[in-house]
Amino acid sequence: MSERREITELLGDGIAEELRQSVRAVAESLPGEHAFDTVDLAYENRRKGARLLYDQAAASMRRTGVGIKYPTATIDESPNAVLRKLLKFSVIHRPVTTIPGLRTMFTGKLDLDIVRVATGGTYDDPGQMIGDYAAASLRVVDRKTCEQAAHYAFSIAARDRKSLTSSSKYTIQRVTDGLFEDIVDEVAKEIAFAGQVEHRRELFDALLAKLVMAPERFQVILVLNEYGDFLSDLASGLIGSLGLGASVSLAFNERGRVTVAMFDAIHGTAPDIAGQDKANPTAILRAFAMLLAHLGDSRNANALRRGLFDCLDAGEATPDLGGKLGTKAFTGAVIGRTAERLKEKAKT
Ligand code: ATP
Repeated sequence: MSERREITELLGDGIAEELRQSVRAVAESLPGEHAFDTVDLAYENRRKGARLLYDQAAASMRRTGVGIKYPTATIDESPNAVLRKLLKFSVIHRPVTTIPGLRTMFTGKLDLDIVRVATGGTYDDPGQMIGDYAAASLRVVDRKTCEQAAHYAFSIAARDRKSLTSSSKYTIQRVTDGLFEDIVDEVAKEIAFAGQVEHRRELFDALLAKLVMAPERFQVILVLNEYGDFLSDLASGLIGSLGLGASVSLAFNERGRVTVAMFDAIHGTAPDIAGQDKANPTAILRAFAMLLAHLGDSRNANALRRGLFDCLDAGEATPDLGGKLGTKAFTGAVIGRTAERLKEKAKT
């Protein structure tokens, strides 16, 4: 575990600096060397020369292959949108996992991965008026992006021994959603490991009902852009929080391999609590655990995820979750519990 890993780090606004300190402290406490190549995307810095900074951020991520991005304020432009375009992120993966200590409507345990085609659908075209009485928009389903998303979804399903559900309205949108489902079937036949994965199709409306009634029946769900947008929020609602989730944006090469993976927290910059040691680093630490898993460091990744949840389970939490710990003290508790998990693993 003495491997050296280089990670691009994109600084941001509001609580970003506190989150960064938390990630850095955790990284330092873990076995192995984690080196950070930092690009400052804080608004003050972007104002002085945004274009150059984004190019620098993109070049660094192309080199290291992985980035962790802290929340950034959308003022003149959306940094996420700029980076998505520059790095050609085409797929978003958002895990939705039960968080200990959070009160939810659904009382079972959820361990769901939503893999979403991040471009196309109706979202690339705001539509246009047809005379005064109607409006229309173009809905695009692109073969290559669907192949990339399907390849990635099957690979995480095979890795984690999960089933995969692809979902769309293929009986109504027969050409567009039909193409998507056909591509998923093709990928299932083409890649060797897909044979290990149980794959089924669900109509999207039926899926929503089943997800509300028995979400534990689903493990990896693969969907087109707009469906993924709706589904992510619904699933986050099931675990009781929109704010504690993390996600990864992915870019691929011609052969469908991931070339760049950028991890971030779903919440924003929380300017109302910035600089007060109140920020909850759970989401960004989950993003960091995902990053470690992506790098193949499953030992540290699992220990960190477990250590984080051990804290929350024991009521060691920041004020937003009703706890008494500040960001720094909570980070210290996570480091302690993660170390316990690492020791436990070393014994087995
Ligand atoms: P932005 O414009 O960057 O999206 P915002 O304040 O509109 O910022 P969020 O940052 O998501 O949106 O914050 C919404 C609410 O949730 C705020 O009251 C904020 O303090 C709280 N919040 C968000 N993230 C965290 C966090 N990590 N820890 C504690 N509270 C948070």
